[in-house]
Amino acid sequence: MKRVLISGGNGFLGSHLVRESLARGFEVTVVDDMSTSNQMNVPHEVKFVGKRIEDFSTNERFDYVVHLAARPSPDDYVKHPVDTMLSNSIGTKNTLEIALKSNATFMFTSSSEVYGDAAVIPTPETYYGYVNPNGIRSCYDEGKRFSEALIMSYHREYGLDTRIQRPFNVYGSGIREDGAYGRVIPRFIDWSLRGERIIVHGDGKQTRSFLYVDDWLEATWEFLTKDGLSGDVINIGSEKEITIVQLAQKIKGLIGSSSEIFYDIARENDPRRRAADITLAKEKLDWEPNISLDEGLVKTIEWFRRRMR
Ligand code: UDP
Repeated sequence: MKRVLISGGNGFLGSHLVRESLARGFEVTVVDDMSTSNQMNVPHEVKFVGKRIEDFSTNERFDYVVHLAARPSPDDYVKHPVDTMLSNSIGTKNTLEIALKSNATFMFTSSSEVYGDAAVIPTPETYYGYVNPNGIRSCYDEGKRFSEALIMSYHREYGLDTRIQRPFNVYGSGIREDGAYGRVIPRFIDWSLRGERIIVHGDGKQTRSFLYVDDWLEATWEFLTKDGLSGDVINIGSEKEITIVQLAQKIKGLIGSSSEIFYDIARENDPRRRAADITLAKEKLDWEPNISLDEGLVKTIEWFRRRMR
């Protein structure tokens, strides 16, 4: 039986990966401090360790180590910059060491955030990034960039099998909508369903490209388990860009909501545009997204409706 260690396995992406690993017959261990969760998502057959990944050590052996633990929501990570940096530095080192002892395959969920306010859209993996090293978002983007550098150092110096993925704005069932934890899609759905005003930061002309979680999971599984991808860095996202105000209108329309769109001040260092160049994912993983934004939003809205009943 294959064994996988998943840091952040109780979170949004982590819990999808945990379920997939179990369905594939893997034995799963999760390390999660529950800092961004409001409920237990990990099934009872999983070995659960309620700790920060920086404080975790083990002599157990794994076939795969996946480091997901992070605070990915901008409104949340700017409130916890030290925590954010530590899970993406000491946490990365810890998980790398565990993988090294086990001779495991190591996967890291980096982020499209490493590109910062990119000048090249859609952004390929070869773009170096345009990042403010000490700005308000630096705890997250520089944390991810440091992690990538450390992972490539382990790969080059020790020959560790490493795989770095850069997800772009993944959404879907299981994502939080509340308070600082809410990313834009769950917040807009929640406000629209309640008929509350939709708060758009800035002029709403900034763009993102969104990926439905089932598509993310398919690409992730392929990248984690396929031979010959050690040392690779691959974008996992969508090429289709949409402005935030168009997103608000689309969600309102799909729900048939009477919510008003309200414009608030822009976030500091908010990237103006973001879209993924997925040429490499197509070539190396034989993957591209299957689920359109409209389809994914309908599924996500359904999930929110069921929860509200
Ligand atoms: N955004 C918004 N209203 C919100 C939350 C986010 O207008 O209540 C905008 C935000 O300014 C950004 C985009 O939506 O341009 C995506 O924000 P999110 O928090 O989902 O994460 P990001 O992609 O910036 O990491």
